[in-house]
Amino acid sequence: PTANIGVVGLAVMGSNLARNLASREGNTVAVFNRSRSKTDELVAEHPEAGFVPAFSYEEFAASLQKPRTAIIMVKAGGPTDAVIDELMNVFEPGDIIIDGGNSLFTDTIRREKAVRERGFNFVGMGVSGGEEGALNGPSLMPGGPDEAWVTLGPILRSIAAVAEGEPCVTHIGHDGAGHFVKMVHNGIEYADMQLIAEAYDLIRRATGKTPAEIADIFAEWNRGELESYLIEITAEVLRQTDAATGKPLVDVILDQAGAKGTGAWTVQTALDLGVPVSGIAEATFARSLSSHPEQRAAASALPGPELSGGEVLAGEDAAAFIEQVRLALYASKIVAYSQGFDEIRAGAAQYGWNIDLGAVSKIWRGGCIIRAQFLNRIADAYAATPDLPVLLTAPYFVDALTRAQDSWRSIVALAAASGIPAPAFSSSLAYYDGLRAERLPAALIQGQRDFFGAHTYKRIDKEGTFHTLWSGDRTEVEVEDTH
Ligand code: NDP
Repeated sequence: PTANIGVVGLAVMGSNLARNLASREGNTVAVFNRSRSKTDELVAEHPEAGFVPAFSYEEFAASLQKPRTAIIMVKAGGPTDAVIDELMNVFEPGDIIIDGGNSLFTDTIRREKAVRERGFNFVGMGVSGGEEGALNGPSLMPGGPDEAWVTLGPILRSIAAVAEGEPCVTHIGHDGAGHFVKMVHNGIEYADMQLIAEAYDLIRRATGKTPAEIADIFAEWNRGELESYLIEITAEVLRQTDAATGKPLVDVILDQAGAKGTGAWTVQTALDLGVPVSGIAEATFARSLSSHPEQRAAASALPGPELSGGEVLAGEDAAAFIEQVRLALYASKIVAYSQGFDEIRAGAAQYGWNIDLGAVSKIWRGGCIIRAQFLNRIADAYAATPDLPVLLTAPYFVDALTRAQDSWRSIVALAAASGIPAPAFSSSLAYYDGLRAERLPAALIQGQRDFFGAHTYKRIDKEGTFHTLWSGDRTEVEVEDTH
């Protein structure tokens, strides 16, 4: 055996990850793909990598030093299960099987259990950054047992993206922790993208600026506190002209957003955990809304403010408005990240993972789509107060939210008054106001629940559980707490 690590699945992600591994000192990489052509191609195109090709699972196992370490990069779901089974047939107890695909964390928990029972180590690992990241340095979110991390840690540190001198990888926690954190990363990405899209839409409709002009605004924002990969590429996309029509590319792209499902997973999981990730949910639903052309056509004549045309802001008014949008975007972004970290905190509590939230924010600073300076502020917040109940109450964020207050409210009000849909901006503000409210109308909900279902309620002034005899004389009785 000559290879210290192997990759199974040589489509774009697997072959790029294999090349990344091969480029690091000390690694010899075994490669295998179900259909032979991909293996032949990869080996032929990259002689410099010194790959050890295998054409059967047996050959693949024979080419790996022990403990064998193999990263699976195939389609999530059934194909991943199939490859795990094949590897267990040819590997030996103690070997390490890593799933680097976009697997649902509950699948990872199930797989880890099954694989461990047969004596193997299983690591579910979130890989972020797409093709480019896989090749030049992804952000890596491995779960799995501590024992596997000993072998795997140095290899992963060598291929991960580097942010401010630190590799973007940390052992997230046991079994499904890595894929859980990767899932929430994607959910946050949905929210961040939707917020940016709303900011663009508000500026365009309210000021009449062209996409190229708005590109300049985003490029400018990218030099300040909003500095991030997503803001940077937004400027690039807005500046692009369509070769065929000469129009801004953004004006000829069909306005129906696709999704591969990780945003929906994040929201579904949050519902199960009882965590209000309203920004991520709105972002996911906004993509769904966009993708129903028949409903949009049927609704297009509904009454409301004129959505296009009309008077636009100009000069200093436009400049002031754009600054308000920037502040509202930053405040809404803080809410979205706070909600995402809240989901990770709740997931860790539910599944018994010991997740260092500050370390998570640090490994997202490089290699992945949401990479940003901003993540350092999150790391600082958790370093100062590890058991922060909710991220947006950290002093730095309180400052930012205080600064953004008035602008945030004006922008949401203007969006509503002008008929410009801004679901993520609006829901972030509603979440903020809900969280800080001294009293919530949840008291009324409890009253209604008690009325129709005798669901009982607690009182603010004494211990115990109570029910009002709504269909009787409406006196209150104390009842046994059944919860
Ligand atoms: P695909 O998801 O398109 O998967 C194709 C690969 O899966 C091929 O190597 C294919 O082999 C293999 N495969 C499919 N079914 C089986 C099976 N039953 N047994 C063995 N192999 C099988 O490839 P990608 O490179 O795009 O993605 C790989 C993984 O990485 C996925 O889980 C994806 O979600 C995840 N990922 C992708 C990112 C991206 O940007 N694309 C980003 C981060 C994660 P064959 O050639 O024989 O058909």
